[in-house]
Amino acid sequence: MVRVVQTGKDEYNCPKKCGPLKYGRSLHILQKTTHCKKCKGIMLTENDVKEWERKGMGPRGNKLRKNNLFELLKSGTNGTLDCPKCSRRMKEIHLRYKKTRLMSRQEDVMKDPGKHVIEFIPLIGNLVRMVQTTVDLAGDLTQGKLEKSVTIDGCDACLIFWLDQGEIIQITGNDLTLK
Ligand SMILES: [Zn+2]
Ligand SMILES: [Zn+2]
Repeated sequence: MVRVVQTGKDEYNCPKKCGPLKYGRSLHILQKTTHCKKCKGIMLTENDVKEWERKGMGPRGNKLRKNNLFELLKSGTNGTLDCPKCSRRMKEIHLRYKKTRLMSRQEDVMKDPGKHVIEFIPLIGNLVRMVQTTVDLAGDLTQGKLEKSVTIDGCDACLIFWLDQGEIIQITGNDLTLK
């Protein structure tokens, strides 16, 4: 029996144990990435990160370069997931950022569009949004912005990052600080 070996292409496995990662476009991310079809996590290599840093992401720009993931990785603590490339334990980087209630709600929708179907029905969606916007603005005024957090994983040997579903939106759209 002849085993067909794909040369020049690395095989990576999902650190969440879903199986091999796929390279290509997905419904959730417009750019080609190495990702897991099952848990929708994505893997970013050093080159991917540099490429993403160069590209603008959405109307509010891209904060990836400013956030400097490689620098943040140095402050990571021992995590629980294995690196998709070298299988060593990755580091966990605990980050936080501030966001208004309204922006935070929009971010949640972008992170997982499937969960928020009702807001996409135009008429009902508009009403829901109007009420929420008023409540959100009042909340920001009285209690200040929300304190949000995101934890990403990275391998400091391979310079690879693993992002769970939607975390790419959080790390490109916010000014992150270490927790
Ligand atoms: Zn997975
Ligand atoms: Zn590694």
